[in-house]
Amino acid sequence: MRVLSCLATEHNLWLVLLAAGICISGCWVAFDLIQRARDREGLQKSGWIFMSSVAGGASIWCTHFVAMLAYDPQAPVSFSPILTLISLLVAIAGCGAGVTVALSSSDKFVRATGGAVIGAGVAAMHYTGMAAYHVDGLVTWEPLHIAASLLLSVLLSAAATHKLLGEPGRRGQVLSVALFVSAIVALHFTGMAALSVVPMATGASLFDQAALQAMAVAVAGVGLIIVATGVASYLIDSFANLQTVQRLEELALNDPLTGLPNRISFNNQIILKLTRASQTNRKVAVLGIDLNRFKEINDLRGHDAGDTALRLIGARLKGLVADGEFVARIGGDEFGASKIYSDHAELAEFVSRVETALFQPLVIDTFAIANGASIGVAIYPHDGHTHERLISNADLAMYRAKSDSIISVCYYEPTMDEIARDRRNLAIDLRSAIERNELQLHYQVQKSIADGEISGYEVLLRWTHPTRGNVPPSEFIPLAEETGSIVAIGDWVLRTACEEAARWSTPHKIAVNISPAQLAHIDLAARVFEILLETDLAPSRLELEITETTIIQDKLRTLDQLRRIQSFGVTVALDDFGTGYSSLDTLRSFPFDKIKLDRSFMGELENDPQATAIVRAVLALGKSLDIPVLAEGVETSEQLSTLKLEGCKEAQGYLLGRPGAVGDTVHRAAATAPARGASEAA
Ligand code: C2E
Ligand code: MG
Ligand code: MG
Repeated sequence: MRVLSCLATEHNLWLVLLAAGICISGCWVAFDLIQRARDREGLQKSGWIFMSSVAGGASIWCTHFVAMLAYDPQAPVSFSPILTLISLLVAIAGCGAGVTVALSSSDKFVRATGGAVIGAGVAAMHYTGMAAYHVDGLVTWEPLHIAASLLLSVLLSAAATHKLLGEPGRRGQVLSVALFVSAIVALHFTGMAALSVVPMATGASLFDQAALQAMAVAVAGVGLIIVATGVASYLIDSFANLQTVQRLEELALNDPLTGLPNRISFNNQIILKLTRASQTNRKVAVLGIDLNRFKEINDLRGHDAGDTALRLIGARLKGLVADGEFVARIGGDEFGASKIYSDHAELAEFVSRVETALFQPLVIDTFAIANGASIGVAIYPHDGHTHERLISNADLAMYRAKSDSIISVCYYEPTMDEIARDRRNLAIDLRSAIERNELQLHYQVQKSIADGEISGYEVLLRWTHPTRGNVPPSEFIPLAEETGSIVAIGDWVLRTACEEAARWSTPHKIAVNISPAQLAHIDLAARVFEILLETDLAPSRLELEITETTIIQDKLRTLDQLRRIQSFGVTVALDDFGTGYSSLDTLRSFPFDKIKLDRSFMGELENDPQATAIVRAVLALGKSLDIPVLAEGVETSEQLSTLKLEGCKEAQGYLLGRPGAVGDTVHRAAATAPARGASEAA
């Protein structure tokens, strides 16, 4: 009753409302800042604690001060400036200490204790402020009301922080602000009820009523500015957070190198288009794109050139998209595109636009490349209803395009699934081919062109599949390389070839093909040494054939291995020269014992002057580097005479002998004659 009468009669009502406004808004902002402090660590946490203490302390102090100015004791009043200032500092310090304690642990008692500290601080501020308040009259204090005001402040503040930190979200915040505002109101009015003033006109007041009201408005203004500063910092932080989140989202959905959307965006886009297409009875095309021979750019020109190529392609693709179309970088040298359409002509036009963009030469530094790309297309609803199926079918079509040297765009057909399944099964069978004794070695003779003398035999692997019969090496070797089984198979070939050759009656040389994976994944030099010891084959009877790809993949390691192998007396030939990179750099980087000119040049040798020119150039190169050249794939005597004329030393091909089993190829006598391998090796 006393409280209400205070409010109605002794306080100036509109100033009381102003005080209430500051109190509620200040507490709201301070509590928002406390929540922000709770979610941060280290210096940021301290910064937010400081901000919340200043906003909270200052607004509580303003509330108190304005309410005091609204209080009319019916006697002249004055304020001690020092104590008034101290009361402000007490409010801020009390809040700071309380918030620090409340945030120091997630234990509910610690949180409530922090609130109690704030409540005690607020009470300390109130009574320091009252000490600064001088009334011309007889002032008496009633201890019971003082104790009650203290208790209410401490308990309600403790409940407020407990609610604020224990119940995240707006509801918790509303309840806690309500509790805290109640704490302040209860403290103020119970505290004021403890005060009774008997006016004694001992002197003039420092302020008249109008001056007091002006001061109240000024203080309220300052309070609101402090609160507004808190709000501003809160908003700036929220905006910065939003920007960070947006940046993170951008990073998560875009490829940083090309700036194109990434795989996740691509998937999302297709899902979106599928929904739209199903509602509007339209179609969606998904394009899988893989750049051709991109590895070459990386290997030969370096990764910077590779990155530039990807950026250029990315910019081109970005530049071509129209409404309803989408392009993305899926990863590595893979891109994707999609289009929603009704008429096939629209799709054909889009695909041709993409193809043109991919096939335009890329100019990087001083060189231009026009490798192009392989494109696979799958269409909803024909080729699949989900984004996964469509992407996987577009990929299957893309692989089909990749394996064809002429076409670059391939539309998905259901038979591609069967082909892929078939390849998977073949790969599984290949893994057990060694144990099931399905592999054999064939040997193809290599001869000196000048006198027809046998110079050696190339070892060629054959696979007789239990149901498919003979599977050509051009089919299973790449499969073994893809799946990694080439390491075990290559090891079997090397060991078996050495074993067989060691039993031959004539100590001919054997040339074994080595895959890049064998040099990359095992210590091949050590393995060769071991096999030579075990099989008793003379190292000089073994030649290893490697291709340029093997060297380029991991140059330093490969060259080191090859040097060690050569140091045992084993020779090394460079196979299929003229087809891949054909770089002089490869030839210079290692002292090859032989260059094998690829068989693809033989067919054209008679008719195509360019093929003759290449053969001549390779022969000249061999001569200048002092490396003998062997021509592969010689099928006609005309080819042989041309090679002889051009100064080629050795040849291999159907004309000189087809690959065959050891019994046919070498010496049937080998079975009866004593093995000479051992004596050779010795
Ligand atoms: P390559 O090393 O260039 O082997 C020569 C290929 O040319 C053999 O094919 C051989 O049969 C074929 N050839 C020989 N003379 C003629 C000819 O006059 N005309 C034509 N058109 N072809 C001829 P093959 O046996 O089918 O082997 C193909 C490829 O498979 C080999 O090419 C080699 O890269 C790989 N390969 C074969 N055996 C092995 C092996 O044991 N390990 C590894 N890593 N690769 C192997
Ligand atoms: Mg070979
Ligand atoms: Mg070859």
